[in-house]
Amino acid sequence: MEPPIVNLKSEIVNPFTFSQASLQDYSDCPRRFQLRYIEGLAWPAVETEPALENERHQQEGLFFHRLVQQRLIGLPVEKLGLMANSPNLSQWWQNFVDFRCLENFRSLYPEMTLSAPLGEQRVMAKYDLIAATPGEKAVIFDWKTYHKRPKDVWMAARLQTRVYRALLVRAGAHLNNGQPIQPEQVEMIYWYACYPQEPSRFPYTATQYKRDWDILTRLVAEIISRREFSLTSDEKKCAYCPYRSYCNRGLKAGAGGEMESEISMINVNIEQIQEIEF
Ligand code: SF4
Repeated sequence: MEPPIVNLKSEIVNPFTFSQASLQDYSDCPRRFQLRYIEGLAWPAVETEPALENERHQQEGLFFHRLVQQRLIGLPVEKLGLMANSPNLSQWWQNFVDFRCLENFRSLYPEMTLSAPLGEQRVMAKYDLIAATPGEKAVIFDWKTYHKRPKDVWMAARLQTRVYRALLVRAGAHLNNGQPIQPEQVEMIYWYACYPQEPSRFPYTATQYKRDWDILTRLVAEIISRREFSLTSDEKKCAYCPYRSYCNRGLKAGAGGEMESEISMINVNIEQIQEIEF
């Protein structure tokens, strides 16, 4: 029997703005979506062990994103490099500086936010970078600081990959001289700071775009109409979930080194990134 949770609001704000993170949470576990986005509960348990080491890795990931963003808006590479002052940051930063793929684009849009209606709701995405040459191509770059490089097949199935590409087609015309971006002009690249020569690349087609938008539309309609949010039957997901204590799914966190399949739980949230002070 599922454990009772008292004082739930249990009503989703309508209209609701969905993100890849909230949709992924729902796909992984409807109860997690409920606790995080409907009830707004704080995270009561650590996600992974050892906790301190993983927290440090997350903080370094956040800071790396900020360094890259600052570089992309024109701050000098030497000055930023002085701040990459841990072994991880130093290595990631050097790998980024050596990364030459951005020179062929006419415009770079770091930390770009796009949103569009999805039925009666909205869907929103915050991109690490959209690199565009109007009339030719629009490439989404997403920086990942994972210890382990995930398999491409796993990344392809992530809702981030679906949402980011579909939303760029849907809402990116202003990045393309006012003309709609065609799916075939879009590509998504996950660039791994620890594996700079092994990015995951996902081109796009009109068929994939239609499939993705249909999936998102159905998923959002399902969430909005739902009155009960069940616990996942895949208890492996609980080992890395901060809501374990609400669900009687154990107290001990999973080990970070074992968590490839749950790697999204330590995704960098761009909103958490603080400004760098010089
Ligand atoms: S502990 Fe498990 S059942 Fe509970 S919210 Fe997390 S993933 Fe879902």
